[in-house]
Amino acid sequence: FWAGVPQGPPDPILGVTDAFKKDTAKNKVNLGVGAYRDEQGKPYVLESVLQAEDILHKKKLDKEYLPITGEIEFVRLSAELAYGKDSKPLTENRIAVAQSISGTGALRIATEFLAKYYPGPKSVYLPDPTWGNHIPLVEGTGMKVVRYRYFDKKTIGLDFAGMKEDLEKAEPGSIILLHACAQNPSGIDPTKEQWKEINEVIKSKKHLALFDMAYQGFASGDLIGDAFAPRYFVEQGHQIILCQSFAKNLGLYGERAGTFSMVCSSPEEKERVLSQVKRVIRPLYSSPPLHGAQLVATILGTPELFEQWLKEVKKMADRIISMREKLYNALVELKTPGEWGHIKSQIGMFSFTGMTADQVSDLAEYAHVYLTKDGRISMAGLNEGNIQYFAESMSKAVKG
Ligand code: PMP
Repeated sequence: FWAGVPQGPPDPILGVTDAFKKDTAKNKVNLGVGAYRDEQGKPYVLESVLQAEDILHKKKLDKEYLPITGEIEFVRLSAELAYGKDSKPLTENRIAVAQSISGTGALRIATEFLAKYYPGPKSVYLPDPTWGNHIPLVEGTGMKVVRYRYFDKKTIGLDFAGMKEDLEKAEPGSIILLHACAQNPSGIDPTKEQWKEINEVIKSKKHLALFDMAYQGFASGDLIGDAFAPRYFVEQGHQIILCQSFAKNLGLYGERAGTFSMVCSSPEEKERVLSQVKRVIRPLYSSPPLHGAQLVATILGTPELFEQWLKEVKKMADRIISMREKLYNALVELKTPGEWGHIKSQIGMFSFTGMTADQVSDLAEYAHVYLTKDGRISMAGLNEGNIQYFAESMSKAVKG
């Protein structure tokens, strides 16, 4: 049957971890991984999550199926977290929300729904660069991927003029995917003022804003600040779509907890949209997983656990910020040719270092340090134990 099936290419990100695993060197470092690591380089389970696990265990809940659109408290509390309790469309009961298989699943619901029902042009504008999975997620539904400029190689910063020009030039009513915060892979976000201008362009061109929010709180430790862009767009009257993930900010990677949501113009429209969202979900996976949603609902719904979580999410964000400082200082001290301020100014788990593909492969070959070919490093993979070694190796690779 399967003689004609060709070998697929390895996943560019997961392939880095494979290469790392094969390396037997003691001092090897994996900076390809997209998950938080603690000071010892170990996966980190949040105390608030452990406490929620205890609470759930004691309740001896059943394992019945969830409704198609998910756990009701989870959905309600997640929407409040994303949009803010006082958000106008939320209080007016016109946001359609469904639990999703984390952020990826939310994007899948969004793209499936848009491919079926969006009345405008079926082109999704993705930033260049973007998270690799965005491309097959869009193309898989038959919609067209178009790229808008985002990253400026020369400044290792935002190409704001290019971005605005591309959004201006896009056919009116196009779908524009925006990273809500901590853009992956560049770590470069627009400023608040720039977001306001982006809002103007999107509004005047009647584009649809599709927000991917995988890092709320994780980017800066501030849940409200990190949600600035989608909340501002909503305030400005955009009927946004929002894909929310709890993988990073609650460390619930494998639990697959997230939401898809869409701001509608009335409660009645919301009900119609939800009825079709259910028809998207039902043949995909019937109903979402229970446990992660119960954990999130317990943490968001229990004031003491919520407080505990706030501290922990800040701790993760602060550790990453301190690694940025240390890496920057070490690179400067080692007189590494180039300007490294972007290491400090970038946001979130990733940093686009500006290293070339050759420098990246030298790092793997000579220093047992692994990262993606585009020069992106996961700051979470750095800690007190390996940062000096990494800075020295990186400095050598850059010096050539
Ligand atoms: N969007 C972006 C920008 C991401 O970086 C990620 C995770 N790497 C996701 C979505 C989806 O993650 P998950 O499905 O684990 O929530």
